[in-house]
Amino acid sequence: MFACLTAGCGAQTNKYSESFDAMDTFMQVDVYGDEQAMKDIKAEITRLDGLLSTTGEDSDVSKINKSGSATADEAVLGLAEKSLDLCRDTGGALDITVYPVVEEWGFISKDYKIPDEKTLSDLLQLVDHNKVAVKDGRITLPKGAKLDFGAVAKGYAADRAKAILDSSQSDSALLNLGGTVLAYGEKEGGKKWKIGIADPENSAGYMGYITCKDKIIATSGSYERCFTGDDGKIYSHIIDPKTGVPVDNGIESVTIISDSGALSDALSTALFVMGREEAERYHKKAHGGFNYIILTSDKKAYVSGGISESFTVADGYDYELIVL
Ligand code: ADP
Ligand code: MG
Repeated sequence: MFACLTAGCGAQTNKYSESFDAMDTFMQVDVYGDEQAMKDIKAEITRLDGLLSTTGEDSDVSKINKSGSATADEAVLGLAEKSLDLCRDTGGALDITVYPVVEEWGFISKDYKIPDEKTLSDLLQLVDHNKVAVKDGRITLPKGAKLDFGAVAKGYAADRAKAILDSSQSDSALLNLGGTVLAYGEKEGGKKWKIGIADPENSAGYMGYITCKDKIIATSGSYERCFTGDDGKIYSHIIDPKTGVPVDNGIESVTIISDSGALSDALSTALFVMGREEAERYHKKAHGGFNYIILTSDKKAYVSGGISESFTVADGYDYELIVL
């Protein structure tokens, strides 16, 4: 292994890259200066995927969902506790028990349908994060309830990757875990990373950029995994746990920038559910510790003050920038 230890020695640090599918998405891991760290990160994310998958037969989450109670790996228990804290803190805008509703809309089978009201109200009886018990290495659910860490898993994976990097020889890495990005350390030459914010109308393009270092950036977009119903309406995969219906509040995407992947990922979903004004109140209510970019369908970009300096709208995009 080679690493440039002498400041200004001019040589480049080796870059070790790997791309793979995990957590139902495409992942790219670039680690500078430590090949083993790159391998360990891939192995850990693959392991987490195996534990957290709602569809994999042997995953911890499947076992819990099938039998209502099961012991779980330390990583699953940690994620459950962290997620439940965030479910409570966001007043249930994030709810890791919304899975029966997600399934009914067909977001898992891809056999999409609009459920009737009776079915939805019956399923909503099963949605309540307050009834999930994490105790003595075991997770227990009420009868019929099901867990889904889909809204937080990639962020949590980024946190685990960060921990691996912290104890490695590497001081620089860029991970893109299906749109959840870990910008670790600085780019070569001491520059900050430049992270693109997807254009909701064409998610292969970027409507803007954020420059940062040592941050985890997560985006939830209504344009991801959505479907057009028989009624011609577009239904997104982000569900309001109070109504059981996909959120339709004028928001096209929420990006959260923070030091914690679990927080960024959870809040990207939760602030989407809250809506623009409630999201602003939540951020102001001394919850701090994170910054956000909310893009709305009327072409406004609401940006929290803490990152307004490091956010740039890309050429050719006419978003009205509103700093809050
Ligand atoms: P992505 O998976 O595209 O990054 P999110 O992080 O917003 O997007 O997670 C959305 C996923 O989380 C959905 O596919 C669904 O499985 C689940 N989900 C949807 N609505 C909620 C919610 N209000 N709380 C918790 N999980 C949710
Ligand atoms: Mg999320």
